[in-house]
Amino acid sequence: MADVVDDIKSRLGIEEVVSQYVQLKKFGRNLKGLCPFHGEKTPSFVVSPEKQICHCFGCNKGGDIFAFIQEVEGVSFVESMHILADRCGIKIDEDKLEKKAAKSEKDIYFKAHDLACDFFEQQLYTTSDGKKVLDYLYRRGLKDETIKEFRLGFAPDKYDELYPVLLNKGISKEVLLKSGFVSSKNIGTDNVYDKYRARLMFPILDAVGRVCGFGGRALKHDQAPKYLNSPENPVYNKSRVLYGLHHSKKYIKEQNQIVLVEGYFDVILPYQAGIKNLVASSGTALSNEQVRIIKRLTTNVVTSFDTDSAGIEATKRAYVLFQNEDIQVKTVTGIDKKDPADFVLEHGDKFKELVDKAGDFLSFMISKVIGDNDITSLTGRRKVVKELLPYYHGMSPTTRDFCVKELSQRLGMNEQHLYEEIESYKLPSGHPMRQAAEMSEVKAVANKLTTEELVVALILENPTLFENAKKTIDLGIVTEWTKNVYNDLLEQYNSARENFKNWNFEIGFLSQDKEKIDVLRLYAEELYNGFSHEALSAEVEKLIDRYKKDRKTKVLSELQISIAEAEKADNRDQLKTLLLEQQRLLKS
Ligand SMILES: [Zn+2]
Repeated sequence: MADVVDDIKSRLGIEEVVSQYVQLKKFGRNLKGLCPFHGEKTPSFVVSPEKQICHCFGCNKGGDIFAFIQEVEGVSFVESMHILADRCGIKIDEDKLEKKAAKSEKDIYFKAHDLACDFFEQQLYTTSDGKKVLDYLYRRGLKDETIKEFRLGFAPDKYDELYPVLLNKGISKEVLLKSGFVSSKNIGTDNVYDKYRARLMFPILDAVGRVCGFGGRALKHDQAPKYLNSPENPVYNKSRVLYGLHHSKKYIKEQNQIVLVEGYFDVILPYQAGIKNLVASSGTALSNEQVRIIKRLTTNVVTSFDTDSAGIEATKRAYVLFQNEDIQVKTVTGIDKKDPADFVLEHGDKFKELVDKAGDFLSFMISKVIGDNDITSLTGRRKVVKELLPYYHGMSPTTRDFCVKELSQRLGMNEQHLYEEIESYKLPSGHPMRQAAEMSEVKAVANKLTTEELVVALILENPTLFENAKKTIDLGIVTEWTKNVYNDLLEQYNSARENFKNWNFEIGFLSQDKEKIDVLRLYAEELYNGFSHEALSAEVEKLIDRYKKDRKTKVLSELQISIAEAEKADNRDQLKTLLLEQQRLLKS
């Protein structure tokens, strides 16, 4: 297993792996970006190509490529190996790797979903009912290659088609039930029947491209619900999945822009027409997690939801969530049809022009609300102001000035009056903007290093500092960990001198936890970027000195408490010893 790990590490650099998820910018020897693990507005996520690690100085998460993938994809170590091995084209010898460990629960669910996907695809192409559905797809403007690329399928109008196939391939009834492929005939019995019947099947892929859920669209008029979506299961978390992301990820990054739409066809049809940087929050309202996932890829968001009232509500909600992450949202206008899919069907890649012309969300809202009300009347104008006020809440002053100006001009209202209205306005408790105000940013745990750790960090990053530092370090007052690192360093230092070699040390030979050492070194590198050897040497002296002083202050204050206690207890002998100790310390 170690071989495979090393093999993968030799082929995939940390910056290459991380940049699939985080936009990175170069800072000196390292790269920085917004942490994918906590909400932040200034980048504290550092990637070190030299040390082959990443680390967040806010929430302290990170590690090597495997640790990163585990955290970001929410997978086990073994799964992270599979993901990375796939990425660099290494074949993992399954037998060697996982002989003892059974397949993980998630693997079984992924297998079930993949088999189901194969089944639905096959039904689409090989059955007569399937062919009718295929014709329907052609009529909706889909081409064969698109249907294949998105792995669309067909669930026949029968009760016993899918599950016998899956049972035959070793998938248990329990997995079938939990995945939502079957229902049980009577509660508590394991007599099951297929749940997806007479439906067009949209497989939902995770970011890595594995089928993790389905959306089944009704094909008959009287069929309910119109969309039958997978229930939450070990591989499907609807608030973490974005439909289309696996296909569009690379285009989103290339164009540094994402178009957020509502439905499956709204992703597929524009994609086919060449507008490929889009995703849908399939089967659910946009979630915080989805916003986070998007933020890792780009901060330029354009929404293009349905033009009906539900679509407007979705647009408002998206605005609130993105605003909370400091992301500006633009909104597509001018879709004369119900949704982007219909628009593309009629006007093709003209949709791209609408995306390029998309305006600020608030301008969109102003037009919309003004259009819905009669602004020649005072009541109408009041209604407009009332409806828009919540969105002026929590705006940056510059944006607010701009938006106040726009609204006052369009309503023929005095700007000052608007400011006063905004000032005195209180968000009603149920308003989504209120939720946004309360969802404060996840507080970054600024886990600063202790003075002692900082000294060790500096020396580990710049071994030549050890020569001087070893003279002043007081091993009597440091932690066991520091002592161990010191002894390792000393041993290497001495053997180097015996062999008349230049002193340098081999990180790999340190007996202490390599991960902690790497992180400490990264701290030192970041904090003391550009310092000369002399300046660093002086800094170490200063830190050791400070550490000794801090330590002394601490001991003295503890002593003071003991002295007070001894006085109270009238314990003269002890008091005498304590006072002597105090004097000795004060003189030192
Ligand atoms: Zn973080």
